[in-house]
Amino acid sequence: MTDTLIASVQAGFEAKYCYAPTGVWSAPGRVNLIGEHTDYNEGFVFPFAINRHTFAAISLRSDSVARVSSSFSDVVHEADVTAIARDAAHDWAAYPFGAAWAIQEMANSLLKEFEATGFDCYIESDVPVGAGLSSSAAIECSVALALNDLWSVGLDRRQLARVGQMGENVIVGAPTGIMDQSASLLGETDHAVFLDCRSLEAQSIELGFAAEGLELLIIDTKVAHRLVDGGYAARRAACEAGAAALGATSLRDVTVADLGRAKELLDDVTYRRVRHVVTENQRVLDTVKALQATGPRSIGKLLYASHESMRDDFEISVDELDTAVETALRHGAIGARMTGGGFGGAAIALTPIEKIGEVSLSVLAEFEALGYAKPDIFAVSAAQGAKREI
Ligand code: ADP
Ligand code: MG
Repeated sequence: MTDTLIASVQAGFEAKYCYAPTGVWSAPGRVNLIGEHTDYNEGFVFPFAINRHTFAAISLRSDSVARVSSSFSDVVHEADVTAIARDAAHDWAAYPFGAAWAIQEMANSLLKEFEATGFDCYIESDVPVGAGLSSSAAIECSVALALNDLWSVGLDRRQLARVGQMGENVIVGAPTGIMDQSASLLGETDHAVFLDCRSLEAQSIELGFAAEGLELLIIDTKVAHRLVDGGYAARRAACEAGAAALGATSLRDVTVADLGRAKELLDDVTYRRVRHVVTENQRVLDTVKALQATGPRSIGKLLYASHESMRDDFEISVDELDTAVETALRHGAIGARMTGGGFGGAAIALTPIEKIGEVSLSVLAEFEALGYAKPDIFAVSAAQGAKREI
């Protein structure tokens, strides 16, 4: 699969620009195993890079023109590499342009007299778009790694994660955290990235899924994220209000032991929002501990507890996600939960390999019986982070 995509992205580059690329760089999408709505509360997340990748074929040019194109559309987007700014006309090219802009920002703050040259870039990807698997970070990280090499900037992977985030924040205009880029750059085979969103310290933790015969199923419900109705902003506001009422700068500083006091001080809704974040942080810590002490079969309960907390306390699940989770568990998954921001998107189910068929078919049948749209179901494994392919 990887070899086919490398050949195809090279051919795509040649067809667009009429010469061969200098190299091909890849970066994976990611899934968050546990730790939801904890990032903006300076808490813990636990994502891993998946075996779905974006491939970027790139060559430097001798002028300052940056051109990007992809198998997604026929348009070639063009910009002056030294004057990239937020512009609706960039469309999807805002992701690679954002990475090119941010790497220059960081290079300029670290190296004197850094001057970027233009480049041609062509992209192909098998990361599903909008399924909560961060196709956006996969683009940013593949391009950032490529330009870091070609421009000889010498940034390390943590700095490149920050580059991806800055580009997405400033040039795309999406106020996202650094989780996706960290997973895409720091991922290792059969490992997840335990990331402290306050210190940005990251630790690679072995999952042991393969040795235990487990796979992670993604069940993409195809329900579009309904974040526009203010649900996401309201959750963030409740977290801030809860932390302030408890005299904390963020919910990171509130622990499970503080919940009794929180219940007395906060109204019911704010209390439940706070309880989700506080217990979710604890569940991430418990998941890391359980993996190290007793292996991956012992994390199933934590995954489901995370789902219940999002469903009942944070109130961000929808019927399709609940159905996916409950059906998967009934048919052999050892743990399952909704993943991502909520109000739609995908669920994950940690499933013994011999049960993958049964779980998938049962979820499909249940969705059909309930009149829901047909979900996309596929297994992912924890893969190595971004790298130069050729
Ligand atoms: P997610 O990161 O969860 O997949 P986002 O909304 O953050 O969702 O990013 C999806 C956007 O990234 C798409 O709307 C598109 O603009 C861009 N994108 C992703 N993959 C590609 C690709 N292969 N080619 C062009 N654009 C892409
Ligand atoms: Mg994204």
